[in-house]
Amino acid sequence: MMSKPSLTCEALLGDAVRRIASDTPRLDAELLLAHVSSLSRSSFRAYPERELDSEQAAQFEGLVAQRVLGVPIAYLLGYQEFWSLPFIVSNSTLIPRPDTECLVEQALEIPLADNAKVLDLGTGTGAIALALASEQPNWLVTACDFQEEAITQAQTNARELQLPVNVFQSGWFTGLPADSFDLIVSNPPYIASGDYHLGEGDVRFEPASALVAGVDGLDDIRKIVDEAPAWLNSGGWLLLEHGFDQAKAVRDLFSGRGFTNVESRKDYGGNDRMTLGQWAPQGDDDAE
Ligand code: GLN
Repeated sequence: MMSKPSLTCEALLGDAVRRIASDTPRLDAELLLAHVSSLSRSSFRAYPERELDSEQAAQFEGLVAQRVLGVPIAYLLGYQEFWSLPFIVSNSTLIPRPDTECLVEQALEIPLADNAKVLDLGTGTGAIALALASEQPNWLVTACDFQEEAITQAQTNARELQLPVNVFQSGWFTGLPADSFDLIVSNPPYIASGDYHLGEGDVRFEPASALVAGVDGLDDIRKIVDEAPAWLNSGGWLLLEHGFDQAKAVRDLFSGRGFTNVESRKDYGGNDRMTLGQWAPQGDDDAE
């Protein structure tokens, strides 16, 4: 007769850690076990002999089996923290990343009026727009995405976080009501279609539409840089996240389009990860 599997936290975690092939198997297993059991991660060390009921154990096994296949932890938990705020995520949007917090920091450093109008293009979960709204309650923040599921998710996150962000369905600028902004910010897709990273880790499970942008990864950035001036107030700023090796190409696109004060900034890993520029048409004295 087969012996019943042990349902202690220690046994369940030990088995999961052996099977999960990520860089952080112990952390992953603890997060999943905490999620199904509503116990804290520290309790697994303090009381390793505590038992789960069979329903919780089955639920845990279901999540571990998906993690073994590589499904991102954020999708299994259904949320991801960004800018110290909890965001609901699903596989129809990109998982907010720590490096994009650098983009938020940079946006907050730009000298803008108290009641500045700000647009987040391709908002996904709403992470950038909502982080900005949480820091600058008087900014008028608009967000858009062309995916319906993203709109629903961004609106749900706005409601849950009680932050006032207007969300529109729009492929870049195509569906936006006429308006003009002091800052346009975006983390657009910027990975080259042939990039081998697309076959590794979490990105395998994320929507390609949020990641991939043509053979050099710059298709969407070219469109945004080209069209943004029509939506910027004089003196307004465009700030874009991009790949670690795209800074020079993106600065050239900004300068070629007529942006001034064009500069790149680094992410947490020390890579040039974003570029910003100001739309200050020649002869406009108010622009500086
Ligand atoms: N930084 C992400 C990655 O390399 C890509 C995000 C994006 O394309 N906007 O995984």
